[in-house]
Order: sequence, then structure tokens, then C-alpha cells
Amino acid sequence: MNEKIDIKSMNLAELKDFMVEIGEKPFRAKQIYEWLHVKQVESFDEMTNISKKMIESLKERCELISLKKEEVQISKLDGTRKYLFALLDGNVIESVLMRYKHGNSVCISSQVGCRMGCKFCASTLDGLVRGLKPSEMVDQIYKIGNDIGERISNVVVMGTGEPMDNFDNLLKFIELLTDENGLNISQRNLTVSTCGIVPRIRELADKKLSITLALSLHASNQNKRKALMPVANSYDINEVVDACKYYFEQTGRRITFEYSLVGGVNDSDEDAAELSALVKGINCHINLIPVNPIKERDFVSSNTKVVTAFKNKLEKNGINATVRRSLGEDIDGACGQLRRKHINKEA
Ligand code: SAH
Repeated sequence: MNEKIDIKSMNLAELKDFMVEIGEKPFRAKQIYEWLHVKQVESFDEMTNISKKMIESLKERCELISLKKEEVQISKLDGTRKYLFALLDGNVIESVLMRYKHGNSVCISSQVGCRMGCKFCASTLDGLVRGLKPSEMVDQIYKIGNDIGERISNVVVMGTGEPMDNFDNLLKFIELLTDENGLNISQRNLTVSTCGIVPRIRELADKKLSITLALSLHASNQNKRKALMPVANSYDINEVVDACKYYFEQTGRRITFEYSLVGGVNDSDEDAAELSALVKGINCHINLIPVNPIKERDFVSSNTKVVTAFKNKLEKNGINATVRRSLGEDIDGACGQLRRKHINKEA
């Protein structure tokens, strides 16, 4: 049997071609696109301006990807919501809604699992299952928006998975999410976070989009980075930083560096000095994140005093830095924790 077409992963131009291919008028594409990406229906039968005959023909050829909400945890402290969604093949992924004064932000997963192996991260402990389809990425945002009945204004691709390891689907996702015929989220309100796959950072830079690149740095030199992040075996820290400079040159977008502070590992005064020198001259912002300890590893978070001292040292050196406010501490906040708990319960 032929595999069914994932209709929600098509852009409008592809959908138009597809209409012609199946003997329908091209203008139908816009109607269907609106049902999928604006009204966000969960079945073909809900498309009331489409004839029964055409709906049958769509059902025969296409599948309509729609995630199923399995579980929601709501933080009593700050309203953060952590969602567990089931995919059609039975895999589960997690997404997070964070509520800020400036709007609702959703953090989405880009893969089921991850193969990058960062030492402090729960998402990678069981390896990679597969990359998510563009439809599965946008639907995380659609489902959460509908669940709370409010507009989602910001999206960060910072959940489980390495977006640059699912590059073509990531690009398609960006296209769908920021399309004026769809949800129309501004590129400026989208951030993609990567552990630093250099050729993909450069390729993304060449697209000259207005999205923000967040680079997971986590160390101030190559040796320390290698100990925390296996990806550093493939790309030297200087190559990664150069790729970020290139990203800024091509897009004019300020780089965000993420730096998880691990007690006694990367949080000394010398680390702060070395980090300042490493990023000097780059138009950037450093997000300091006290590491969220996971039970499978013995990393501990830096204490508050050390975090503040680290931040002050960066600022004294003229580097913008903020300590990321921790949200959802009373729910399974850290990357991949909710999904792992679910999988382990099933096993
Ligand atoms: N693979 C991408 C995006 C997903 S991870 C990347 O590496 O950027 C999102 C961010 O969370 C990364 O900066 C990652 O290093 C960080 N992270 C993962 N586990 C963490 C933990 N236990 N505590 C603090 N930050 C963590």
C-alpha cells in the first residue's frame, strides 16, 4: 500500500499542485490550507465547504496529522503547562507553555528522543527514535493555543531533540508557522536552539531569515565542552562561535548563547573570564541557566551566589547576561523528564 500523504506538512504551493494532480480546482488549496492551519480541524469531515466526494478522495490519499493530548501538568506557581502528546505511531513527545507578561510562549520538541548525548540532558538518555514531521511540530502549537483559547505569540524550538538534525523538516515547519495564510507568527518571535551543528548553522544563516539562533555553549573552552557535549568532538568550539558570527552577519539577528551552570564544572571565575573572551565582539546575549539536575546523572546546580557572581563578572566584561527565571519547578520542568516518566511507567 502506498504511504498516505501528510497533507498538513504541505505548503500552499504544494497543496495547489496536489489539487491539480487529483483533478480539483487550485483555489480549493487555500480553503483546505485554512481548515488545517487557521481553523485547525482534526478531521476532513469538519471541512464544511468541501464536497463529500472530494473529502472521500482526500481521505483515500492523505492522512491528517493531529496530536492527542495525553497529559497536562499545570504549575501552581506560575501557570506553566507541560503537555504530553501522543503521535499517530504511538510515540509520545512533550511541549511546554510558558506565560509571560508579553505573551504566551510555547517550547516545542523537534524529535522523538535525541542522539546528541549531552551529559546533563534527560532527552537523550534513550537515544533518537525519529525526527518529527513539520505537521507534528506545528500541531504542538495549534493544540496548546486551542487548549488555552489564547493566541501563542512566541515559539522556541528548545524541547526534546536537535532541530538541526531534522533540518529539512525544521525549514518546512518555519515556513508553515510564519506563513501569512496560516498562524502567521512573526519570524522575529521564533527561536531555534542548537547544540552546534556547524554546517547547518551556516546553511540556516544563508536563508537570511529573521529568526533567533540560540547556541548551547555550556563551556568556555573546547576541552570542557567536549566533556559535557559529544557534538564538540565533531566541531571545535571556535568553529561553532565563528558560525554564530556568520549567522549574525547574514541575518542581523543577535545571537543567544545558552550556558547551563553546573556546580564545580563550568561556573568558576576563570570560566566567566574565558567565556567573556570567547564571545567578545559578538552581538550576543548570554542566558545563564542553573542546571536542572536529572536523577540519572550526578551533576548539581551552581548555588545562587555563584550564579550571581558569574553573571556580574560577565557584565563587568561588557557582556549582556541574564539568569533565566526558572518556570514550572513544581512540574517535570527539565527537558525530557515528563516523557521519560511516561515511557518508564508503560514499560
Ligand atoms: N538540541 C537543542 C535544543 C534542545 S535542548 C540544543 O541543544 O540547544 C534546549 C536547551 O536546554 C539546551 O541549551 C540544552 O543544553 C539545555 N538543557 C538540557 N538539559 C538541561 C538540564 N538538565 N538543565 C539545564 N539545561 C538543560
